Amino acid sequence: MHIDRDIDIDRDVCIGAGQCAMAAPGVFSQDDDGFSTLLPGREDGGGDPMVREAARACPVGAITVSES
Ligand code: SF4
Repeated sequence: MHIDRDIDIDRDVCIGAGQCAMAAPGVFSQDDDGFSTLLPGREDGGGDPMVREAARACPVGAITVSES
């Protein structure tokens, strides 16, 4: 079953800790300033189960994952 996910990174909150990119490197990356970005085409998480782990790992709660 495919779960539709929507990942939102609050870049005003992100402190560039990089935990998300470490937890789910297939979905999250860090831009030149160290802030979290989603890899192109992975805005829906690409079905990666580690997305939730990445959201949990973020020390400032900048990542919101909604499922529909
Ligand atoms: S874990 Fe949170 S604070 Fe760190 S880069 Fe990712 S979104 Fe930003």
